[in-house]
Amino acid sequence: MADEKGPVEIVQTPVELDYTYTAGQAATRFLKGVEQGKFLGQRCPVDGLVYVASRGSSPKHGVPTGPDTVEVSDKGTLISFSIVRIPSANLSVEPPFAAISVLLDGADSHLMHVLDECPLEEVRMGMRVEAVWLPKDQWTASMQNVTHFRPTGEPDAPFDSYKDHL
Ligand SMILES: [Zn+2]
Repeated sequence: MADEKGPVEIVQTPVELDYTYTAGQAATRFLKGVEQGKFLGQRCPVDGLVYVASRGSSPKHGVPTGPDTVEVSDKGTLISFSIVRIPSANLSVEPPFAAISVLLDGADSHLMHVLDECPLEEVRMGMRVEAVWLPKDQWTASMQNVTHFRPTGEPDAPFDSYKDHL
């Protein structure tokens, strides 16, 4: 029953969970590449599509990818985005910012990252972007080596060049 203070509408219950994540073979391969400033993918033996980061198998054919790794570019095409305006404790970036999907040149799957060095009203599909890396002496086996993506200034990629990857 509500008293003169009114009903309780919000109860804050902080929850924290620490855990150790074992990357596994496929993610380890990818992160070891990132540790050397490279994006490594793996090819599907059935249709030749290159997955970055590969999960070790083709999601379409259910067969193991590889065995070889394929190095792809750290440049690519922004194929989708969302402007994030709501703050959250688990975000290391201050909103508003652009969360983007990047189709790296040479890859057939996309990476999620953050676009910076670009006004939000200019963010668009087809924009050419590149990874911005931390100084080399700070590299670890982590995607945190890439602080963000930024526009390259190249002309936009035509829609036909990435429409099959949406
Ligand atoms: Zn496949």
